[in-house]
Amino acid sequence: MTQINQQSYIAGEWVSPTGPAFRPQNPATSELLSTFHNCQSNEVSTATSAAWDAYLQFSLIQPKKRSEFLIAIAEEIQALGDDLLTLCNEECGLGLPRLTGERARTVNQINAFAEIVKESSWVQASIDTAEPQRQPLPKPDLRKMLKPIGPIAVFGASNFPFAFGALGGDTISALAAGNPVVLKGHPAHPTTNELFARAIDNAITKCGMPKGIFSLLQGDEISLSVQLVTDPLIQGVGFTGSLQGGRAIMNAAANRDTPIPVYAEMGSTNPMFFTHNILQQSSNDLANKLAASVCMGSGQFCTSPGIIVIQKHPNFIETLTQGLNNQPRTPMLNKNIGSAFVKGVKRFIGYDDIQWLNKQDDALNEPLMPASVLLKTSAATFLNNEAMQSEIFGPATLLVECDSEQQMLAVANALEGNLTTSIHATEQDQSFINELLPVLEQKAGRIIFNGFPTGVEVCGSQHHGGPYPASSNAASTSVGIDAIHRFAKFVAYQDTPAYLLPQALADENPYKIVRRVNGCFTASPIKQ
Ligand code: NAP
Repeated sequence: MTQINQQSYIAGEWVSPTGPAFRPQNPATSELLSTFHNCQSNEVSTATSAAWDAYLQFSLIQPKKRSEFLIAIAEEIQALGDDLLTLCNEECGLGLPRLTGERARTVNQINAFAEIVKESSWVQASIDTAEPQRQPLPKPDLRKMLKPIGPIAVFGASNFPFAFGALGGDTISALAAGNPVVLKGHPAHPTTNELFARAIDNAITKCGMPKGIFSLLQGDEISLSVQLVTDPLIQGVGFTGSLQGGRAIMNAAANRDTPIPVYAEMGSTNPMFFTHNILQQSSNDLANKLAASVCMGSGQFCTSPGIIVIQKHPNFIETLTQGLNNQPRTPMLNKNIGSAFVKGVKRFIGYDDIQWLNKQDDALNEPLMPASVLLKTSAATFLNNEAMQSEIFGPATLLVECDSEQQMLAVANALEGNLTTSIHATEQDQSFINELLPVLEQKAGRIIFNGFPTGVEVCGSQHHGGPYPASSNAASTSVGIDAIHRFAKFVAYQDTPAYLLPQALADENPYKIVRRVNGCFTASPIKQ
């Protein structure tokens, strides 16, 4: 088994911080795992200074070389072998099959970024050539493209230790755009973080990259996260995690002397709408599929269905209750998440007019292995209690029972921002869906028809984001190649001599990319 040294990694050096200790716990056995230590303020400053020093050098590296670096990272992750899976499983209990799939997704997303970096059209080159004779004033030559913004602080979530972890989508999209990354490792899986830091350390050496382009700060103290976000050398943040954590990071960033953008992807209740017609057609099948979706990964997905909007349908509710009770209990990720789940359910059952339909006496006795929870309320109550829209992260869902389609529309109108929403309907429901769809377009980043929100395809047309509180910026995605745009800014070059222009803006178009030239998209070179 790979030797783990309980270290942080700062600008190419392995360090043993001396801040307060923390220990993750194996959620399946409750065994306390190795002791790690929090990085201290001097280590944060060393990491951000090194990242700043590396910024210019890294941003000038040609796309082909940056792409090769990303491929090397993916290869080094594979080279960690099955120890990565075994050690991570001890920290998160997600199981080897799930982690095997998540590793493949992580490697594939890195390779997808490598491809677009090499291809280069992501920089959105736009050129307007000069018109010196234009009256009353000559028109200058203007050319713009996306450039990296500077050192990025990344915070990963505990429920995706690979895909949203140390070398997950946030880190890789920031590096792909040419930015150094300072990662605050999630304290629930520090060994996994250390392994990933080894992978990128090897890739940095292999590809001759500047050492400061990646640092891993291990720790579980809020002050460490806040210091990182408020460090003046940090220019942007990629965050994946809870609303509470994301909001704290957004506030810290906004309160800086120089505020910086925070791309926070947070929790979501992913409301699902089932029309009466579809339930008349296939209520048993839908209820069983919904039960599986609610309990998938113990409900610990940001896309887990947390709100179900229906009209009265006793058979659907009965089958859903049975379906949920038939699902095996599986471990929660860590004790914080387990106890937050228990607290969340207890808060909900304290509200007026709420029923716990599948109550089992021991359901919440073991926070690391809770039973699934099916709650029910009326639409009228839901509409009067905003708190019922908060995420219970885990295997719980709230049925909102409506009297009519009009009441379903009222519920849709009252929804907060979400990552996803789903519609189950038949062709006979067309006029209702024509009313519902425009409302849901305002509420979520992805709308699923006759399907379930768990499972996120990673591809160019994916949008994984949504209006607040699902994310801090509804226009951006944290999944898919468009995630790169979060960490880039436009620079326009006016009347710039050819020998100074970036390659993507050169007349000859050496990268052969599609550019907007004088208003038309073309891959042709510019003839002067
Ligand atoms: P979390 O507790 O918010 O942790 C995420 C990161 O934020 C950690 O590094 C954590 O470090 C830090 N953090 C948390 N609270 C903080 C605070 N008040 N101030 C400063 N830093 C803070 O999230 P999690 O429990 O690991 O992940 C589960 C949540 O993530 C769920 O709500 C889920 O829906 C969401 N999620 C969203 C997406 C998405 O794409 N939208 C994907 C996956 C998960 P410390 O623990 O050291 O404080």
